Amino acid sequence: MKIELDVERCIGAGMCALTASDLFDQDEDEGTVVLLAQPATPAQERAARQAADRCPSGTIRVVDDHARQESAAT
Ligand code: SF4
Repeated sequence: MKIELDVERCIGAGMCALTASDLFDQDEDEGTVVLLAQPATPAQERAARQAADRCPSGTIRVVDDHARQESAAT
């Protein structure tokens, strides 16, 4: 799976960094989300999905590998 961010939508609520601090941080000036790393373990994948669920602005999108392969094929 892969995390995609639509940073234009981010309102700096910080739920992502609170939920998955090893994956997300916030820009010091703008407060907008910064992606630190793509999830590499099942625990990080769960945390990424939780962060996406908790983000109030829909900034975080979790793309599953099979979905990416399907969209690449079309
Ligand atoms: S939870 Fe969503 S709106 Fe808040 S900082 Fe993270 S990406 Fe931005």
